[in-house]
Amino acid sequence: MNDPLRIACVETRHFLLPLSHPMTDATHGVHTEFEVVAVRLESECGQSGIGYTYTIGRGGAAIRSLIQRDLQALLLGADAGRIEQIWERMWRCLHYVGRGGLAAFAMSAVDIALWDLLARSQGQPLWKLLGGYAGEAQAYAGGIDLQLGPDELVEQTRCNLADGFRAIKIKVGRDKLSEDIARLRAVRDCLGPDRPLMVDANMRWTTEQAIRAARSFREFDVFWLEEPTIPDDYAGLSRIAREGGLPIAAGENLRTIYEFRHTLEAGIAFAEPDVSNIGGITNWMRVARLAYAHNLPVTSHGVHELHLHLLAAIPNASFLEVHSFGLERFIKNPPLLHDGLMRAGAEPGHGVQFEWDKLREFEVKGD
Ligand SMILES: [Mg+2]
Repeated sequence: MNDPLRIACVETRHFLLPLSHPMTDATHGVHTEFEVVAVRLESECGQSGIGYTYTIGRGGAAIRSLIQRDLQALLLGADAGRIEQIWERMWRCLHYVGRGGLAAFAMSAVDIALWDLLARSQGQPLWKLLGGYAGEAQAYAGGIDLQLGPDELVEQTRCNLADGFRAIKIKVGRDKLSEDIARLRAVRDCLGPDRPLMVDANMRWTTEQAIRAARSFREFDVFWLEEPTIPDDYAGLSRIAREGGLPIAAGENLRTIYEFRHTLEAGIAFAEPDVSNIGGITNWMRVARLAYAHNLPVTSHGVHELHLHLLAAIPNASFLEVHSFGLERFIKNPPLLHDGLMRAGAEPGHGVQFEWDKLREFEVKGD
């Protein structure tokens, strides 16, 4: 008899997609395109699940190759109802070349597809299957806008408020700290005193530079300062949190639960795992529980259409970052924002349905 959860087919596709407009941050410069690696699993009964990861333009072919050449054989015939077991098998399979890095991206795409398949097979929306706490999340507009001056940022902020956002993040890390301060002042004046305002330095600074910047930002009631320095400098993060006087958010560049443990112990205030690079939903939920044990909230990075379900499921959710590099242009039913909130849908699984016909022209064929 055919098993509704036994995996019979694994399909992996790689796309190089144009951004809707150039985006700039302090470490990666100007981005004009991004990659999506998508995995479609199908069970013996024809039940399917979709997972995906993304890059900022490089590494996608290697991720696709890891899935096709190394993980696919392990997945065929496996029971998608035993995700923890599959996750550990993937982790051990790639451990010698992995322990994070590209392997974590490949595992993420597969793991997300497994959870989607499981949730669809049970007729449950993902956020309910994962715990079903609030069913919605507070959202903020995640600007990738280091290139914008004060006047342009004010214009962007007005548009975001008109679109329903009630919290905003801007990039910082310009060559002169005075420029960051002028940009921040302009946005705070536009937002008023009560709406949350976050800033993101994308690892630009040394510890000393970050402490100096954090102190100079305090007058603007910054909700969090994100990635002030490299993720590997736990002692530096600890000093920035203690001496800078602002809550620190970090996590988009962490790829393992062990890195999160060290980072939380360093004294950050907001854990920021990205489901598309931390090893999927299985490991994202582990990070969320680790943060819970530290009495800390969890926020998200990118792919808001997926993170909405995760933050809607847990009791220690903070804000949902809304930016997905414009991926919503290729999704049939992107989630909608209303007065600062996004509500997770009721359809089974994570509910993301790609417009495959629109994606086809951007497909990167394998070797
Ligand atoms: Mg960031």
